[in-house]
Amino acid sequence: MSQPNFSIEFFPPKTPEGAEKLRATRTKLAALNPTYFSVTFGAGGTTQQGTLDTVLEMRAEGLDAAPHLSCVGGSAESIRAILQQYKDNDIRRLVALRGDLPSGYGAGGAFRYANELVEFIRKETGDWFRIDVAAYPEMHPQARSPQDDLANFARKVAAGADGAITQYFYSADAYFQFVEQAHKLNIDVPIVAGIMPITNYTQLMRFSEMCGAEIPRWVRLKLASYGDDSASIKAFGLDVVTQLCEKLLAGGAPGLHFYSMNQAAATTAIWQRLV
Ligand code: FAD
Repeated sequence: MSQPNFSIEFFPPKTPEGAEKLRATRTKLAALNPTYFSVTFGAGGTTQQGTLDTVLEMRAEGLDAAPHLSCVGGSAESIRAILQQYKDNDIRRLVALRGDLPSGYGAGGAFRYANELVEFIRKETGDWFRIDVAAYPEMHPQARSPQDDLANFARKVAAGADGAITQYFYSADAYFQFVEQAHKLNIDVPIVAGIMPITNYTQLMRFSEMCGAEIPRWVRLKLASYGDDSASIKAFGLDVVTQLCEKLLAGGAPGLHFYSMNQAAATTAIWQRLV
């Protein structure tokens, strides 16, 4: 199989130890030769500086690293200043999101939805950035309906997004159906599949609850049955996620985006089985 486009996501480390660990992780993952890395951006401005610092450190090492940018709670001036910082550092790619405010924050901010952010970025910076946006094969949890969510995705593409990365999912059918529906709306940007390796049952259930990703019943039951047997969870997770990736690539997915959780082992193991 020829190497498809694949990218790897990190979050900005919160401690010096985390930063050291991430350096070791990305050295290992860089050996896989991904198309690019991306670095998340905390809602409410918590890790703005961490995002830029991590991206710049990686770029100084010769790695292609793209920042995410979430707009919730931000003013037009603050987003303009961040875009300028990215431009000043010759960053040409970003992932544009609405983000989620931590509970307790009011809505606020100049942008309500990611399509407004994409529109603003295009208005302010023209074609400087390649912009990717988020897409949800199993529907964003706050959407009124799958149709509404798809229409909202279409709005982001119409505003100027060049591509999309999906929320993670474990049903290849949900992805293929979503892509087919998007094509029917004449959305022709690449929709890269987001992949979450399975390494920890409790963490997976917690994340999936928050972001609306469905864990198939049989997968959940199997994972639960392993209890504290972390080796069996990882081995089973590796089989499940590798098979999912194989199906996606065979069915025409233009690429895979790995949510690495700043860990190298699981992404590496899946990738090595694919190539
Ligand atoms: P939007 O596209 O704005 O959609 C949000 C909700 O509003 C959806 O339910 C949508 O259907 C609805 N909606 C959109 N437009 C309208 C409209 N005009 N009228 C009515 N309803 C509308 N979060 C972070 O904080 N930092 C990150 O770095 C980050 N990276 C991510 C990367 C990827 C690939 C993905 C998939 C998610 C990421 N997230 C990140 C999480 C993301 O911020 C949340 O899922 C958030 O809740 C939605 O962001 P969005 O950009 O998809 O929002």
